[in-house]
Amino acid sequence: MNQPPPDNGSSLPVLPGGKPPRKEAAGNNPSSGRANEALLETPDHVLSTLEKDGSRRWLRPKLSTGHWWKRRRVVAYVLMAVFVAVPHLRVNGKPLVLLDIAARKFTVLGKTFLPTDTVVLAFLMLSVFITIVLVTAVAGRAWCGWACPQTVYMEFLFRPIDRFFEGTVGKGGKPKKKAAIWQVARVAVYLVLSMFLAHTFLAYFVGTERLAVWVRSSPLTHPMAFLVMAGTTAAMMFDFLYFREQMCLIACPYGRFQSVMLDEQSMIVGYDPVRGEPRIKGKRVEGDNKGDCVDCHQCVVVCPTGIDIREGLQMECINCTQCIDACDSVMDRVGKPRGLIRYSSQDAIARKPKKLFRGRTIIYPILLIGVLSAFGLAIRSKSSFDARLIRGRGAPFTMMQSRQIMNSFNMRLVNRTDDEQQYVISVASPEGASLEVVDDEGLTLDGGMTALVPISIRFPNTLTNQGGKSEAVLRIKDGSDNERLVNFKLLGPRQ
Ligand code: SF4
Ligand code: SF4
Repeated sequence: MNQPPPDNGSSLPVLPGGKPPRKEAAGNNPSSGRANEALLETPDHVLSTLEKDGSRRWLRPKLSTGHWWKRRRVVAYVLMAVFVAVPHLRVNGKPLVLLDIAARKFTVLGKTFLPTDTVVLAFLMLSVFITIVLVTAVAGRAWCGWACPQTVYMEFLFRPIDRFFEGTVGKGGKPKKKAAIWQVARVAVYLVLSMFLAHTFLAYFVGTERLAVWVRSSPLTHPMAFLVMAGTTAAMMFDFLYFREQMCLIACPYGRFQSVMLDEQSMIVGYDPVRGEPRIKGKRVEGDNKGDCVDCHQCVVVCPTGIDIREGLQMECINCTQCIDACDSVMDRVGKPRGLIRYSSQDAIARKPKKLFRGRTIIYPILLIGVLSAFGLAIRSKSSFDARLIRGRGAPFTMMQSRQIMNSFNMRLVNRTDDEQQYVISVASPEGASLEVVDDEGLTLDGGMTALVPISIRFPNTLTNQGGKSEAVLRIKDGSDNERLVNFKLLGPRQ
């Protein structure tokens, strides 16, 4: 039979194992901590957005407008502006970023990559991945707290809207404006903003020109694009209106990998228990042996992920610095130095020396330099067109009259420029081999286009008398005199 929780002077039950109970963020669901006799006590805290009975614990954090918040706000608004501006920016007449999945062309910094650029794209992805791992090892979850779109939009766009329409500006907690009209207005503003963001998101994939045409025409003329926009709007509404901080707590894979990417020297937002404990409310007097933490819970009520930083490093912490600002303002009021919660590292908090050079900070930069160098070389080796020879199906060769042999191929040409190009193919070696292009028109390609051009090569059978094969080279030139040589083998009968 379940024993009732011991009375600890709080409405919250004591968790088994002696762990202190998790306190509520300001104005969270008042049902938190209510006894439900029909349910077994949960063994421990599971998730900061769950009540013990499994229902949603809505977080309405208070806002702490300290110096870190002011800096983050500047960064957030700059990032929001960048996100909207990027699809409109051009480099040499090309979009700064355009991920045209339908045409399978990806333009980054004005440079277009094609699906055939597998190696280049692989190096690019690898360098992004290593950069993320390196930055995390050094600066912890700086990305989550400062630059992740989820945090940026949630904390600096949608939560301020909540506070405005719910009448809790700066206070957090339960809505003060209860009339339904305020909630309807709030959802309407969410919808307009989500639609705007969905259109911006779509511009990254279809370009601003095409998007402008679509916006002015009926959805029936571009139903798929309209469905993508509507789906993205719905996903944003679901995320920012309902799912919220659970995206960081449950869904985000980056957050889940923190425990392997951080080490004891990585930068974190941490509480200093050496200075703070024992935490006791009330005034301090000289020699009373109390810690600096006055147990005011301000660091808890401001936390957008609903955790208590004083319980140590937790995966839920997105390093948003709100608890630093809240605690600094408390320290100012009680006349203690700031920094009881601060940017630090696990080792620094444990009073261990700082180590700038360690395995991760040596190996990751070396790897990154290597991959970036390979990426640079791969880009430089790319010419203005690709040419690949594909041997024709069926018989490897055809015996012709006058002791001539014919080999059939398809030449796959990719025009990597933005202009129309005319290509010329010739046999560079061996002497005596001649080329026939079945369809000359296939050698003229619009910018960014690909063509498969059937060609055949005739040669005297003496070339393949020795072993039935002979080395050969084709020369392909474009209108700007760029040249590529393609090596291949001529096949003929063995003598
Ligand atoms: S805000 Fe600072 S003083 Fe208040 S409970 Fe948190 S750590 Fe302690
Ligand atoms: S513990 Fe502090 S830094 Fe971490 S998420 Fe909560 S408020 Fe932000």
